[in-house]
Amino acid sequence: AANDEGPVIEMNWNLAEYLPEWCGAQSNFNNVIASYITAVYEKMKEEEQQHEVGTTPVKRRCLSQLTPSNSRPGSKKSSTQDKEPSKDDAAAHIVFARELIAGELAQKLFFVTQKIQKKGSKGRDELDDEEEEERNMMMATLTKSLDKNPALEFVKSVCKVLSLDPNVVDQVTKLRRDLLKLCSVGEFSEAGMWQDPCISYSLPELICRACNHCRNLDLCRDQHQTRVSGRWAWQCPVCKSHYDSTEIEHQLLSVLHNTSLAHVLQDLQCARCRQVKQPNMTTICSCGGDFTPLMQTKKYQEKISIFHTIAHHYQMPQLEEAVAWIIRGNNWTSCIA
Ligand SMILES: [Zn+2]
Ligand SMILES: [Zn+2]
Ligand SMILES: [Zn+2]
Repeated sequence: AANDEGPVIEMNWNLAEYLPEWCGAQSNFNNVIASYITAVYEKMKEEEQQHEVGTTPVKRRCLSQLTPSNSRPGSKKSSTQDKEPSKDDAAAHIVFARELIAGELAQKLFFVTQKIQKKGSKGRDELDDEEEEERNMMMATLTKSLDKNPALEFVKSVCKVLSLDPNVVDQVTKLRRDLLKLCSVGEFSEAGMWQDPCISYSLPELICRACNHCRNLDLCRDQHQTRVSGRWAWQCPVCKSHYDSTEIEHQLLSVLHNTSLAHVLQDLQCARCRQVKQPNMTTICSCGGDFTPLMQTKKYQEKISIFHTIAHHYQMPQLEEAVAWIIRGNNWTSCIA
């Protein structure tokens, strides 16, 4: 809501939470994005006030469809507005945003990225705010990889958010290329690709023993947690009693069992004609195509990795043992930390 001091921007980017803060990546992300949004918003407001004098309706949000035909559907009474029917009829705030990204923002990002790089290369100070560390341990374990190159993750996250506006695609593409170069990463390399860091795993319909409150519990992100005799446990948000971790461990073990079984017993599919393999002994399809598994091994591996993190962090010995056995058997020790 706008008051005299202007609207307050609430930064609620989930992806920012996964950026490491020890080198300033997270706060810089918030600063850069907030100042960009503020600048563009103010430009839009200014534009709006100018247009209110005339009759041209203005769309409040940046829209890619903002073409001459739908931005001026009405009469052409206001002659001042139509004096310059230039070809590039992008709204002023779009032009402004493009210039901002290509100019001032690009410079700022170069500076900030280098700063993060410098801090990041020194490595993390282990004794740094231990309490904070403890609270975010789960997240830290899940995002260990993001810690290795904070500057790169910073660049990828900022560019990802900026690219949400289709009006500035060209500018963001160039910015991204230049910033990745700064991190010695190629524009099209795998390291430069943005990946959703927000992994999650939910147990559906978990019922609280104390108050019967029923909810889905995201084991990777749920904030209702407490310590029970030195071990983290999830909490009921209603009555605050904690769930039985051993019970959750057994549920996860049975999920792991079923997932693994499904993975091993899955059908093979022809990569060419997409038919499911019928005869047992053939190695190629009747059409000559190769067979591939229906389910991706990578997905299974990801799940195993999440289970390993949960088991380790919440001290679930049976689950950890089972997961470790799968990791060893598949020789995944190098891919799963
Ligand atoms: Zn409860
Ligand atoms: Zn085939
Ligand atoms: Zn472990």
